[in-house]
Amino acid sequence: MEKKIPYKIYLTEEEIPKQWYNVRADMKNKPAPLLNPATHQPMTFDELRPVFCDELVKQELDDNTAFFDIPEEIYNFYKMYRPSPLIRAYCLEEKLQTPAKIYYKFEGNNTSGSHKLNSAIAQAYYAKKQGLKGVTTETGAGQWGTALSMACSYFDLDCKVFMVKVSYEQKPFRREVMRTYGASVTPSPSDTTKVGRKILEKFPGTTGSLGCAISEAVEVATEHEGYRYVLGSVLNQVLLHQSVIGLEAKAALDKYNITPDIIIGCAGGGSNLGGLISPFMGEKLRGEKDYDIVAVEPASCPSFTRGKFAYDFCDTGMVCPLAKMYTLGSGFIPSANHAGGLRFHGMSSTLSQLYHDGYMRAVAVEQTSVFEAAQQFARVEGILPAPESSHAIRVAIDEALKCKETGEEKTILFGLTGTGYFDMVAYQKFNDGVMSDYIPTDEELAKSISELPKID
Ligand SMILES: *Cc1c(COP(=O)(O)O)cnc(C)c1O
Repeated sequence: MEKKIPYKIYLTEEEIPKQWYNVRADMKNKPAPLLNPATHQPMTFDELRPVFCDELVKQELDDNTAFFDIPEEIYNFYKMYRPSPLIRAYCLEEKLQTPAKIYYKFEGNNTSGSHKLNSAIAQAYYAKKQGLKGVTTETGAGQWGTALSMACSYFDLDCKVFMVKVSYEQKPFRREVMRTYGASVTPSPSDTTKVGRKILEKFPGTTGSLGCAISEAVEVATEHEGYRYVLGSVLNQVLLHQSVIGLEAKAALDKYNITPDIIIGCAGGGSNLGGLISPFMGEKLRGEKDYDIVAVEPASCPSFTRGKFAYDFCDTGMVCPLAKMYTLGSGFIPSANHAGGLRFHGMSSTLSQLYHDGYMRAVAVEQTSVFEAAQQFARVEGILPAPESSHAIRVAIDEALKCKETGEEKTILFGLTGTGYFDMVAYQKFNDGVMSDYIPTDEELAKSISELPKID
């Protein structure tokens, strides 16, 4: 007999997953390895150690272990804000008059306001366990820096954040949250690093990019005793930690025997989407079940839909290892799209391989249509979504409207990665009708893609 599905499906504290799941273990075609930019050989444990914490390097390089135990200290922190709710969007379904059943996993239920805390706390924990003094990182819109500053203060670690200059100036409140948690925040590019000074010389007056800020953070980590660099997305280790999202979502759905037909997530560097889909993708890879898995990216930074699958630098300063991924070229600086968390030029190499092998598809959406969806969602579901998350809402609504036409009762699951309280300037532009939809031209993309490193 079918049980009545509640608005919110909560798991108990004991049902928070005790292990992370590594989807790479079930991939026949493993993601291509990180390469040393000088030798073009795969990066070894010893080469990565000066940059990342030892335990995280092990996770990064491990394509075979399916499950990693979540250490007790991290588990205890998770208990403060997890399990996150899985919500049945009854009100949105009603508003759309769709026969589709819509569910979303809401990760905005913590002070940092996004899923990024799931990996921040893990990365801070391993740094502490290794006896380090602190970590360095970059932040674009500020969500990752906020999450990391919370995690570092919990474990009493120093946290140095390089914040893309334009966000530093436009989002003073994000900056102050980070400082409240004890992080030091430097606008990037800055004159405090060699690479920052070089970038400033070449592009005076630049308002910065994620790629520049990464280069600065890596430099500081490698040149200061007792520091390592941490990254909030893109890397395999981050996808591993974010698998807690998908494992919880699946456990909640399983309680009511619900099987999603479509799984949708926004994709910046790929961590929330990778985390949300991982247990479902595992089933798909093992041939047990099939799902329609959709990555949604901004039309202004279309890595999957218009990028090239090739080795590229992760940063503008070209100091980081090379990753094989769908990329627009590390020289690509996206226009001032308001979904700051989706402005990275590349994409997780795990998701890139899965996309390349046909296990998922991708859709690019324009900014104003994203905010239309955000507004519609906020008005009926109550939650004020982050612009990044609203990319997934856009496509979830579009799929639900297709069901309305065809009469299909599909079950849709999407990731609602965070809240938009710090994005009110973007909402203001939308409300005032002055938001623009910038889409890069083929020539622009061809130019940055032509500058990809040549690897044979
Ligand atoms: C950072 C961020 C994203 C995008 O990052 P992924 O690594 O692609 O998940 C999406 N939503 C929110 C709210 C974010 O902060």
